[in-house]
Amino acid sequence: MAIIVLKKKKLTFIENLYILEVFKGLMITLHHLIRNLLKPSGIMTYQFPEEKKAIPATYRSEHRLMLREDKSIRCTACMLCATVCPAKCIHIEAAEGETPNKEKYPEKFTIDLLRCIYCGYCVEACPCDAIRMDTEKLVSAEYTREAFIKNINYLKANHPKGKNPISEGIY
Ligand code: SF4
Ligand code: SF4
Repeated sequence: MAIIVLKKKKLTFIENLYILEVFKGLMITLHHLIRNLLKPSGIMTYQFPEEKKAIPATYRSEHRLMLREDKSIRCTACMLCATVCPAKCIHIEAAEGETPNKEKYPEKFTIDLLRCIYCGYCVEACPCDAIRMDTEKLVSAEYTREAFIKNINYLKANHPKGKNPISEGIY
């Protein structure tokens, strides 16, 4: 195999000072600054957090618990989601329902978002469309570990604007 030796170009005295190159770099920066000031719509970056990037419809975001038409919780505390969850971050405590068509309901339902890996298995496993991950909410920054553990009241009310909290169906 032939070895090619590249000869390094010898710089002139002016080139060694790098003044011209620094000036060229500043001109590029100035060009971008003026272009962005004159045409802000052409800026490639998002002004986060004021401006948020659109999230795809299939993105798995924070969970929400769906409701029935009478606004009661749709979950029947069957534990399928907690069983299938690979991160074991769903904790449910079931209670007996008061009416014959509501045998069980969750008295406690918490999800530890720090442990959750956003796999979506809980949504897939739920037989009655009681849990969804379509809130388009990313995990927010919190100061304490406890703040990431979302309880039933939070999950029941975690319906973003424009998304129906009521799920249709027989359950
Ligand atoms: S998304 Fe996955 S890890 Fe998170 S709660 Fe559901 S099953 Fe568990
Ligand atoms: S959310 Fe669905 S899978 Fe989980 S306990 Fe409730 S009904 Fe069962």
